[in-house]
Amino acid sequence: MITKKRNFEVLHDGTLNKSVAFTKEEREQLGLRGLLPYSIVSQDIQVKRVMKSIKRKAYDIERYILLSSLQDRNEKLFYRVVINHIEEIMPIIYTPTVGQACKEFSHIFRRSKGFYITPDDKGEISKILDNWPEKDIRIIVITDGQRILGLGDLGANGMGIPIGKLALYTACAGILPHQCLPVMLDVGTNTQEILEDILYLGYPKKRLEGEEYFELIEEFVMAVQEKYPNVLIQFEDFLTPNAYALLNKYRNRVLCFNDDIQGTAAVALAGVYASTRITKIKFSDLRIMFLGAGSAATGIADLMVFAFEDEGLSKEEAYKRLWFVDINGLVVSNRDDLMEHNLPYAHDYNQLNFIDAIDSVKPHILIGATGAPGTFTKKVIEQMATINERPVIFALSNPTSRAECTAEQAYNWSNGRAIFASGSPFDKVYFNGKEYHPGQGNNAYVFPGLGLGAIISIARIIPEDLFLVAARTLAELVTEKNIQDGALYPRLTEIRNISLAIATAVAEKVYELGIAQNDKPKDLKQFISDYMYDPRY
Ligand code: NAD
Repeated sequence: MITKKRNFEVLHDGTLNKSVAFTKEEREQLGLRGLLPYSIVSQDIQVKRVMKSIKRKAYDIERYILLSSLQDRNEKLFYRVVINHIEEIMPIIYTPTVGQACKEFSHIFRRSKGFYITPDDKGEISKILDNWPEKDIRIIVITDGQRILGLGDLGANGMGIPIGKLALYTACAGILPHQCLPVMLDVGTNTQEILEDILYLGYPKKRLEGEEYFELIEEFVMAVQEKYPNVLIQFEDFLTPNAYALLNKYRNRVLCFNDDIQGTAAVALAGVYASTRITKIKFSDLRIMFLGAGSAATGIADLMVFAFEDEGLSKEEAYKRLWFVDINGLVVSNRDDLMEHNLPYAHDYNQLNFIDAIDSVKPHILIGATGAPGTFTKKVIEQMATINERPVIFALSNPTSRAECTAEQAYNWSNGRAIFASGSPFDKVYFNGKEYHPGQGNNAYVFPGLGLGAIISIARIIPEDLFLVAARTLAELVTEKNIQDGALYPRLTEIRNISLAIATAVAEKVYELGIAQNDKPKDLKQFISDYMYDPRY
């Protein structure tokens, strides 16, 4: 190991520390003799010890804290644990447990991770960014904490999200940890309970809004462009109108995307493609109804329009395939309460309630992205099962407790005919002696690979084409066995290969579109694979 550090400096540096896995020679060289117990163990044994400790904990939030401390203490071991046990660990470091970790962020805070910007830093963002020790940043995940998962305005407590997403970038797609930067744009919170919490660590004021808010973000975007010219910025968990405003402002200017809008869309589209292998309905013939007309649902629909156009439909024909129902009923043109992003989908039609809308429009697929649990009622699922031989039901709201219906309900109420996928994980379900595997439309299927492909090719921007390519690639990786089990997605255990495949396809497209800022490597896939971080010692 090459480092000038010695003794406890080595053991206390999470990027260097191997703890009891340091070899005899390393112990001699780094001045570690006497500082560690006698045994020298493999990383595999260390992983076993960590997994045992995880199992011993009574609550997932305790497991989250344990893993977060491990990430500080021994980064490679942390990633090895995550990669080797991805299906078990992802729900702890990401949704649903990360939601609870955010709610309790100021209460469980130990060591600081990531970068904070507040309105007090106005005019000095560039200067304070110099405090960040790493200079080769390639991916930033930034949130302002205003719409954390389905949990609302958590202010600076939302920092758990950028930290968690970047951990997934590294675990799933092998982005080098030191090239990742989690950012909290802490402009305050409007949640009174948080402002009154004496342990709250964020900027203790009501939210900065309007022009000043956008100016602060502009200053940040400009500062990172200058310091890290090839960086990809992922906008995360912003309130829907701000999410759209930021995406529209920056998508053609800098390398950026919004995962809630575009990443979700690619994952959902992949699931829709896969569902057609079961229903045998041609993709371009599909009618899809959304419950919820916010950023997630609209993002999915926008990408669907792009996908329909790619199949030869006109934009107008594509819009006609997509229907929205929100809290006030069917989204139709004579409503005066719609937001701008709803307008293309507001059809000239009678204003109907949800059930009547299903009855009238007869969708093949229902996609819920409301944050409102229980909104896919028995009647809704039965109605879908009356219209369709194999009704396709996506209950995307996170965390699990907010899903529009459970997997069990979807199978029970459709007499086992539903094809079900959710946003957060559901266990397999037994119905009438048959085993069903609900798919999880987890955003982690797409954003890590997409980000990897974009930074490898140094894309200038991220056009919609890249999400389409990512969705198609993911859908192609759904095996016949997955389909037989009724799952619309591959197993998460395959995530490193999935990310590599998506990254390769995305980078390929970046070169094809002429938006790459480097030359294409001879063997692109091998080049990407060689880049990917491997946490083995
Ligand atoms: P949003 O606040 O932008 O939109 C919510 C929409 O739901 C609004 O249009 C609102 O009118 C509608 N709505 C709320 N309650 C309703 C009800 N009872 N009946 C009908 N409509 C109702 O939120 P968003 O960013 O679009 O996220 C929505 C949900 O999607 C969240 O729970 C989030 O966790 C989930 N999501 C899932 C994934 C994923 O599964 N991969 C990704 C992103 C977001």
